[in-house]
Amino acid sequence: MPALSHPAGLAVSLVQVAKSYGDVEVLQPFDLQVAQGEFVVLLGPSGCGKSTILKMIAGLEEASHGEIHVDGELVNYVRPRDRNVAMVFQNYALYPHMTVRENIAFPLRMTRPRLKRSLIDDRTTAAAGIVDLTRYLDRRPAQLSGGQRQRVALARAIIRRPAAFLMDEPLSNLDALLRADMRTSLLEMHSRIKKATLYVTHDQIEAMTMADRVVVLNEGRIQQVGKPHELYTAPANTFVAQFIGSPRMPLHPAVVGEDGTLEFAGASLATEAGIGLEADSQATVGLRPSSLRISDGHTHAFVGTVRRRDYLGSDSYLEVELSGESSIMVRADAHSRLGPGDPVYVDAEPGAIHLFDEAGARVCGAFVRPRDP
Ligand code: ADP
Ligand code: MG
Repeated sequence: MPALSHPAGLAVSLVQVAKSYGDVEVLQPFDLQVAQGEFVVLLGPSGCGKSTILKMIAGLEEASHGEIHVDGELVNYVRPRDRNVAMVFQNYALYPHMTVRENIAFPLRMTRPRLKRSLIDDRTTAAAGIVDLTRYLDRRPAQLSGGQRQRVALARAIIRRPAAFLMDEPLSNLDALLRADMRTSLLEMHSRIKKATLYVTHDQIEAMTMADRVVVLNEGRIQQVGKPHELYTAPANTFVAQFIGSPRMPLHPAVVGEDGTLEFAGASLATEAGIGLEADSQATVGLRPSSLRISDGHTHAFVGTVRRRDYLGSDSYLEVELSGESSIMVRADAHSRLGPGDPVYVDAEPGAIHLFDEAGARVCGAFVRPRDP
């Protein structure tokens, strides 16, 4: 195997890193690179290995295999506190008996050789300013709200001026409104200090709104790495297709017919030529509700009957029964008057169909319309 290079400009680089506990392999070997200034989100369900990745970079867990580089330096055998990264946890981990000022300054006060008092004060003030805590420096953690405590934890990471921030679900203890505010503050902070950030969450909306790039994980394997719109428009497999986007993309079993037609849900659909699957093979079709719309019947891909309507204020989602047991979800105008029992035509945008092979891997996106009779 050729030696891999580690170009300067990468804040974090993992090469064939894997993790096992005893016989249990919790992370399959993977590579991951985070550029200077990049905001990368690790996204996946609980237990998929997200925290383990951060802990290995921070040195809180040993990698079973592979190389970990921080800022161009191999750190596998470097002590956690000498690795140039700062970790921010979900549960803040503040010292209750210390003031905000003392909590923030703590990492610098531990530095050996000792730093000058005036330097520590200046950097404490600067870090507090970045997270908007200047007015609270003399309070103790118990006198702060959840959001303010999380800002203290952030300031304590900022003050170390690390090559990378590692954030493990830092907002998950906050209620929904505060979480949205803190997302914005975090991104503002990121654009001010432009440090590489590896951010863990199980919340796909958080990932989609915050990330430059998202790494989707499931069961210890990377499923896809891409920009948010790439994951949404071209999911690599059925797991990513269903994990990204709300409401969830419904999946349908389908059979490939002659000439690239797709038989599913009682319909026979013409697709673009060359979908890359042989006649008679089994496939899975996914249709995003946002790529479908109710039509006047002039052009349409499907005919069906409304079964249910979910009203969300800005728009509605209609569940449309096609034939037998299958149904699709279709986005409709908020002021649409369609309701259960109404017959409808449904049209599809180009690329509306996501076609997956028998193993669940993406084959293509395709345009659909009813096959000419
Ligand atoms: P996530 O952060 O994505 O929820 P984790 O990285 O915490 O997942 O855990 C990944 C897997 O590793 C889980 O199945 C978990 O049970 C397992 N695991 C984590 N820590 C240990 C440990 N110390 N010993 C054995 N298994 C562990
Ligand atoms: Mg975790």
